[in-house]
Amino acid sequence: MKTKLKSIYIISLIILSIGQKPSGFNKFKIEYKKLESEKKENIKDLLLEDICKINPNIYYSVKNIKLVKGFDDHDILVADFLPFGYSIFDINSGIILEVNPYSNSVIDNLDYENYYYYPWKGFYYKKNNVLYDAVSNQVVNKETTDFLVEKSKNIRKSFNSNKNEKNLFFLNSSKDFYNQKNILKLNNSFYKQNENEINFIYGEREIKYSWYFKLCDNDNFPSNTGSEQGICGYVGASMILAFSEIFKVKGFFSEEESEKYLTKAVTIPSYAKDYNGDTYMYFKDIPKFDDSFPYDIWGDDIGSSEPIGIERKIREFLRPKFKEGEFTYTVFSTYWLIGDVKTAIHKDCPAIYFGHMTKDDFVNRPIGVDEMNHALVIYGIFNEKEDRYICHTGWDNTESNQNNSQVILSGLGFLTGGFVYVEPLVKHKHAGYFINEINGTVYCGCGEVLEC
Ligand SMILES: [Zn+2]
Repeated sequence: MKTKLKSIYIISLIILSIGQKPSGFNKFKIEYKKLESEKKENIKDLLLEDICKINPNIYYSVKNIKLVKGFDDHDILVADFLPFGYSIFDINSGIILEVNPYSNSVIDNLDYENYYYYPWKGFYYKKNNVLYDAVSNQVVNKETTDFLVEKSKNIRKSFNSNKNEKNLFFLNSSKDFYNQKNILKLNNSFYKQNENEINFIYGEREIKYSWYFKLCDNDNFPSNTGSEQGICGYVGASMILAFSEIFKVKGFFSEEESEKYLTKAVTIPSYAKDYNGDTYMYFKDIPKFDDSFPYDIWGDDIGSSEPIGIERKIREFLRPKFKEGEFTYTVFSTYWLIGDVKTAIHKDCPAIYFGHMTKDDFVNRPIGVDEMNHALVIYGIFNEKEDRYICHTGWDNTESNQNNSQVILSGLGFLTGGFVYVEPLVKHKHAGYFINEINGTVYCGCGEVLEC
């Protein structure tokens, strides 16, 4: 395994040396030397320990490590694990940017020349000096590339002022120190996956009924395709509206809309234990949500968007249903609210989180620069101290075979981003979206039996 990893590094080194930036290459050589030492082993241990903590049901091992670059030329490391899962780690700041405990990274099986990573958006690669998006394989134009470089410098400032000192200390610690850590790893091998249980991971604080998002697969949220750049903001809006209808207050969808877009789940009630060890009930299947919803509701010209635009679109959708005393709500957005997304989580409201693109960026974005924002749904705080969140990324997973419903993201990328959430102002009203497949009992998402 060690020799294999070593050869991967050497190959990467040779490949990177073909790249067009000699200064970047020299810098990389220095970083590479550093990684050859204990540090490399320490990074592996750190990321392994982290993913084992996130998902203690599985004993992970490192499958493959790739060194990629930020657009500011800093080294970022991507670790893919067995049997699945990946972590993205910023070596310079010690921040674990992203962990998906159920899928390998999109670059795991790809072998291009030169990889780049842009936080919360994803991977790019350079081939014959041309930059491509690693998911769509589309060429990224010069204006967009310049913009990515410029933005990455701003992101770096956030990283530098929020370094994870604990991780950095561990990275630079002596062998004895991580020998002790290995004992921890050994203990992890005693965890066994229980086949009868659904594999939920847990954050310190999650919204009520967060299992809905954990189970939210392709059939359960509108596809993020259609327009050239995707419709992520609208997908996020659709998801939080469906959640509000199913779990909060019946009435977010009219009878016709409910009939047309949300298919009741025929399923069985199940039980699991939450972060604190308390048992809760959930349903193994959740209502299907038709792909046509965003286009039918908001028109054919929708694309990615910024918080203010999505706030307006949610208001448009809800306005005809507004009824004083019976159906009232507030739509919050960072446009007028200077706040913290944790507020939404503490109110048990899922929030649409927009990458780093602020309203100003949107307005000032130079001509020719493609949209590169991404919106996703946050439904829990994974670790408040480390500013990590648990979210559904909203990406379709049919082609990439990814599971994108339980991803841990560092909150740093959102420092200059924004969020939107909806808060009902009337008390819970049951909705019968779950039907017991054995006896036909109809349940509300809250667990209440509505009819037998
Ligand atoms: Zn209910």
